[in-house]
Amino acid sequence: MSGNGGNLHSLRDLPGTYEKSGLVLEEVGLVVCRVNDPSTLLTSLSEFRPNLVLMDMQMGRYSGATLARMIRFDPEWLGLPIVYLSSEENRERQLEALSHGGDDFLTKPVSDHYLQQAVLVRCYRARQLEKLATRDSLTGLLKHSLANAEIENEFARSVRTGQESVVAMLDLDHFKRVNDRYGHRAGDMVIKGLANLLRHRLRKSDILGRYGGEEFIVALVDCALDDARAVMASVCERLSRIVFNAGDQEFSVTVSIGLARMNDYPTVEAAIEAADKALYERKQSGRNGVSLAPDSNLGRTG
Ligand code: GH3
Ligand code: MG
Ligand code: MG
Repeated sequence: MSGNGGNLHSLRDLPGTYEKSGLVLEEVGLVVCRVNDPSTLLTSLSEFRPNLVLMDMQMGRYSGATLARMIRFDPEWLGLPIVYLSSEENRERQLEALSHGGDDFLTKPVSDHYLQQAVLVRCYRARQLEKLATRDSLTGLLKHSLANAEIENEFARSVRTGQESVVAMLDLDHFKRVNDRYGHRAGDMVIKGLANLLRHRLRKSDILGRYGGEEFIVALVDCALDDARAVMASVCERLSRIVFNAGDQEFSVTVSIGLARMNDYPTVEAAIEAADKALYERKQSGRNGVSLAPDSNLGRTG
């Protein structure tokens, strides 16, 4: 985009430059969001969530360095690659711009092909790094802290819209025994198996996290408590029917699940704690199944 005599693009998926460079980048499959007014930059970042930002060294009254500093001010964007596309050849001024939080320079003029490849490579790398930082390596599910952050966002959304969402805590039953009898590798296979089952049974919009060793957290988004209970009961049932192999031995496992309706609690922490209590209750009353938090359905009081 161009505006105020400068250009700023944020790019997702594959990667761009301005009016023309944006189009050039879209040609290789990148999704490009042009930001014409630098004062809306932070809002655009939150909505678009780019893999990379491409900007001029000067955009109207804002310098690229000022904008880079502004982006870095929010810890959420500390790792976001910022690339200047600029005709600035003075090394000192380039260094000065980098010292404020930019990562790299592409010096104009650049050919369309070079621009496409340079941005694609950087976006690919940024996505790999992001995945490494946020995903659990065994299961590919969200790590504890990111799962919590996403569930907190969902909680805030459900307060705003009034739509029902449910949080679930899951813990494999007698898992120490699985490790002891069949070995740690067999145990890992079970953890992966449950993660895959959750991915298949739940919706893409649901949030799936591995909380600890054999514990998982799930947020069922826009989902009534009864429906959540039915889906999670089917997860229990399906898991119990999977036959795992360890050498020439066969075995199966079960999982216990606690559910709480987010809308019934004043904070996301209270909802997660209620789901955890329901899980504990399920462990006490025989495992292999779903329990609801006792105060679910009471209506949000906070
Ligand atoms: P309960 O039904 O009460 O949950 O019994 P449990 O044996 O599952 O008890 P608990 O949840 O306390 O034990 C969890 C065990 O899970 C402890 C540890 O040996 C095992 N574990 C934790 N992380 C991993 C992992 O990444 N891989 C494997 N294979 N085992 C793990
Ligand atoms: Mg446990
Ligand atoms: Mg357990």
